[in-house]
Amino acid sequence: MAKRQEQEEARTEVTEVAPGVLRMQLPIQMPGLGHVNCYALVDGEGAAVVDPGLPGTASWRALQDRLKQAGIRLKHVHTVIVTHSHPDHFGGASRFVRETGARVIAHRNFRFGLPAAATPEVSAEHLGEKPAAEGEPAKAPAEPAPTHSHSHSHSRGAMGPWGGPTPWGGARPKPPFKQRMRWRMMRMMGGTDFVPEISDPVENGNVLRLAGRDWFVLHTPGHTEDHICLHDPELGVFLGGDHVLPSITPHISGISSSRDPLASFFYSLDRVAEINGIKYALPAHGHPFSDLRGRTEAIKRHHYERLEKIREISRELGPTTVEEISKRLFQPRSWGAMAESETYAHLEHLRHAGNAESHREGEKLIYTVR
Ligand SMILES: [Zn+2]
Ligand SMILES: [Zn+2]
Repeated sequence: MAKRQEQEEARTEVTEVAPGVLRMQLPIQMPGLGHVNCYALVDGEGAAVVDPGLPGTASWRALQDRLKQAGIRLKHVHTVIVTHSHPDHFGGASRFVRETGARVIAHRNFRFGLPAAATPEVSAEHLGEKPAAEGEPAKAPAEPAPTHSHSHSHSRGAMGPWGGPTPWGGARPKPPFKQRMRWRMMRMMGGTDFVPEISDPVENGNVLRLAGRDWFVLHTPGHTEDHICLHDPELGVFLGGDHVLPSITPHISGISSSRDPLASFFYSLDRVAEINGIKYALPAHGHPFSDLRGRTEAIKRHHYERLEKIREISRELGPTTVEEISKRLFQPRSWGAMAESETYAHLEHLRHAGNAESHREGEKLIYTVR
């Protein structure tokens, strides 16, 4: 399969993708993704950066290189905006606070820990599409993106983030061993503050002055519950984070404090589809695009097809477990806790709509889909 645009490696050049908005691609090592886009919004005082990449020196160096190319001095970065609580989006924020005293803007519910620790970036179906990065195992990684070791402090004894059963009775999603080790090392080397303090929490409807114009904050729960997008109605610019990606669908986790995370995601897609006059949709992974509404419709269609497929599978199998359904829904390279988590989110959506019932047999949830 051809590489998807979200899986391309980070390019070094900086491009102006909308008036006053620069795209800077940063390297990441995560299953199913090749780069994260950090955007610089330039104004008379300096710049705000949106989603400054993973923690660690490799990403920081790449970002410094891109800022230099753009003629932005580090000390002139006055604002960091974080679209949601995933490490490839917030990882560089604390370093900016230390080096420049930048303010950090994120949704008021920004929280990295459980359940965010167990939510990976992209749908399990995209795992294994990317050729293995240097030093990464080539086996199908049925495991989610990295988390960080702070989550251990939130752990509930044996029922911590990597232990204990899931709501559906399977093994809990767990980052690959190497990534867990990497986070642990980072903490040992003094990186305990790599989850930023949010100095300026925002909520839906707030207005931010960036790049010399007004941007509306949209709260778009689904991929995470604290996800925000930014909309500049004046020039038709939309910063979409992971909410609306150009060619892949973000992971929608069944492990969530939302009862029906897929319904939240649909609701947030509809809010975005209502926006008129978008010329530049700028995603956190992949290239800029313009048909934002069309893309939200395509993502919804994808999930409706998955729901229909689940109904077909369930009718064929009769009452069965989340694991059995996920193994029919996903290719073997994607099997595992992450695929089960997505399947569970879809089954719960069917259940809340009155199209499925569940009961417990021992540890396992058994679903009967109508
Ligand atoms: Zn994400
Ligand atoms: Zn992302």
